[in-house]
Amino acid sequence: MKPKEDCIFCKIVKGEMPCYKIYEDKDVLSFLDINPYCIGHVLVIPKKHSRWLWDLNEAEYTRLVERTHFLANKLRDAFKTEWVEEVVAGIGTEHTHIHLQPRKFDDGLGELPTKPIIPKPTSEEMKKIQEKIVKVIK
Ligand SMILES: [Zn+2]
Repeated sequence: MKPKEDCIFCKIVKGEMPCYKIYEDKDVLSFLDINPYCIGHVLVIPKKHSRWLWDLNEAEYTRLVERTHFLANKLRDAFKTEWVEEVVAGIGTEHTHIHLQPRKFDDGLGELPTKPIIPKPTSEEMKKIQEKIVKVIK
């Protein structure tokens, strides 16, 4: 396990690394996955470092899940779809995170997308996706 000081998501929380932020409050941060498995793929993380979702205490877990519910419904609005996948994985970045992936039945990605979309969206496209989501959150 890497030391917490090297944690990329902690650096994003502290503003030491950039992200395409879509939501922030005192406990939770959400931003676009830079290697999206579908358009609108976002990550929801607790600001406080923890390795696994199950390391959070009950109050922290409940807060994260409540905000994930809020954001998933915003993604449904932004992408005009009823289907948003929620995935908890964790071998990539060693900081608790929940993936939200707005899907379309005709997107050709199958039940669970397993790899980043190619070509990767450009930074211009990422900004447009970010704006599209932020617009429905405000
Ligand atoms: Zn961290």
